[in-house]
Amino acid sequence: MPERLVDFHCHLDLYPDFENIVRECDQLGIYTLAVTTTPRAWQRNHELASRTKYVRAALGIHPQLVDKLGDVIDLWERLLPETRYVGEVGLDASPSHYRSFEQQQKIFRRVLESCALADDKILSIHSVRAATPVLDMVERHLPRERSKVVLHWFSGSKAEARRAVAMGCWFSVNAAMMQNERMAGIVKSVVPLDRILTETDGPFTQGGGGPARPSDVLDAVQAVAGAFGITTRQASQQIVGNMKLLMAATI
Ligand code: MN
Repeated sequence: MPERLVDFHCHLDLYPDFENIVRECDQLGIYTLAVTTTPRAWQRNHELASRTKYVRAALGIHPQLVDKLGDVIDLWERLLPETRYVGEVGLDASPSHYRSFEQQQKIFRRVLESCALADDKILSIHSVRAATPVLDMVERHLPRERSKVVLHWFSGSKAEARRAVAMGCWFSVNAAMMQNERMAGIVKSVVPLDRILTETDGPFTQGGGGPARPSDVLDAVQAVAGAFGITTRQASQQIVGNMKLLMAATI
């Protein structure tokens, strides 16, 4: 295994062996951001992650679930002081979720405003078919110096990627995303190597023999290496370095 790996967006609590996979990340030394889809999952994720060196839990409200979760934004807001990491949050304007788009925007606005007030948060943001509204809202409600934004599995246009880079956003890329020629081209031509992190988005992507596990993030590292014409070792060192810079305090 080359150096250390970074899986900056993985749903550890959606694996049948949740506790085991948290332990696995720690044993393998994979820096993992355990994102959540509802603040109701926070306590357990936080509890397990706080016993590890490499896993951190993020507090989320998933945009695809806002219409099913009930009124959990107050709970989300109450829990925010317990963590520096926020995710999965964002907007989803794909056909099956467009119905809740207004509700998603209300919630995302509260998320951004709370983060702006709280200061120094790191957000993992979903933006399916909604890169422009996500960037508009980030620009309007989250002053750049107050937090750091990581766009998870970005799928927008080249112009949107360029705008995100100019706004100071980071990108967590996965192997499936890099298999898409258009996206690989955008990453390569628009995103600077020092703004790139890797992710699996497991269990929603495939790895070796089934749902991707954090160790499968090596596939994403190799894809980044291929896109930028560097070795896998250089890519993994760069990505760990990027993550450490991202984690460094804003103030
Ligand atoms: Mn996800």
